[in-house]
Amino acid sequence: MACGRDSVFGMVLVIKVGSNVATDERGCPRAEVLERIVAQAAGLHAEGADVVLVTSGAISRGMHLLGLDARPSAMAELQASSAVGQGRLYAEYGELFAAHGIKTAQVLLTLRDVLDRISYLNARRTLRKLLDWRVVPVINENDTTATDEIGFGDNDGLAALIAITLKADQLVLVSDVDALYTSDPKRDPENARPVRLVEKLAELDHLQIGESTTAIGSGGMASKVNAARMATDGGVPVAICSGYDDDALERAVKGDQAIGTHFLPHEDPLSSFKIWIRWGLKTQGHVLVDRPAAEALRARGASLLPVGIVGVHGEFAAGDAVEITGDDGTIAKGICNYGSDEIERIKGLQSERVRELMPHATDEAVHRNNLVLT
Ligand code: GLU
Repeated sequence: MACGRDSVFGMVLVIKVGSNVATDERGCPRAEVLERIVAQAAGLHAEGADVVLVTSGAISRGMHLLGLDARPSAMAELQASSAVGQGRLYAEYGELFAAHGIKTAQVLLTLRDVLDRISYLNARRTLRKLLDWRVVPVINENDTTATDEIGFGDNDGLAALIAITLKADQLVLVSDVDALYTSDPKRDPENARPVRLVEKLAELDHLQIGESTTAIGSGGMASKVNAARMATDGGVPVAICSGYDDDALERAVKGDQAIGTHFLPHEDPLSSFKIWIRWGLKTQGHVLVDRPAAEALRARGASLLPVGIVGVHGEFAAGDAVEITGDDGTIAKGICNYGSDEIERIKGLQSERVRELMPHATDEAVHRNNLVLT
């Protein structure tokens, strides 16, 4: 990937188009921009890639169709505006792909759909069949039933999970900015430099990644980096590129590091079960650990034993997800074998003593198989 790709034949590409790319600030479709994006996607499809398009812009299209001057703030209005805009947004893509002889399918999904086991399997089966048929799925969040990406994300997180679901070869976040910068290029044009390659996400720890969003979408660089973290954790390479250039999408897919920002996938990707623990399960409480336990977790991904626990925050039941926290912050997330009351009783105790108190208990408070380092 670092040297670029000659062929995309047989690759699964997930291309996410942001609201600001699909529409202007009043919600009018950016017809020429979409035409160029679809032309590049169609070119990759013709070269033998399977293309999945995840697009935002339903809310902003709805705004325009309803004659609203600005993005509404009430959630019900955002959802209803999306319902007005979605059909048109999809139809526009459908026509553009049809001009290249490509069939499309409208798919509305939520984060919950991709994180719940049964609906995940159903979604994956449907999407795979569409790709077998060489149809391009055009996906948006189902804003009527979910609000995850309206609040924060503009579909970046959804696109990452879809890319993991399909074991995609590349996720491209097509944006109104052409790359991730070392500082905000609008505020600090003198010093802002594009970051072309991110081998490990920790390289970005010193950067202030902007949470700022725009007048019509809820995404921003923070949500893109978050999506890159999810996808690369799941083994999918990610690129951010401009939606306004003639060939940036194609070049980003082909690994051209003269443009955009490229994130290399994790060498040892998380299993889908661990992805689910990390991103799908709601954290119900916190377990605080001492320094030796923190080191064993960090260095070896070891199981957490009661002897290393020094405290507990929140109320949770056995089987709930907890964050494991050391002196210097969160270390891991995992499924706890004990409820918070039990942890209070056994924290700091050696395993033999725990067995005396609870003869049927497991030795591990959080087993390494059910734990993911954060
Ligand atoms: N599903 C929303 C849309 O298509 C997501 C984007 C947003 O946050 O505005 O408009």
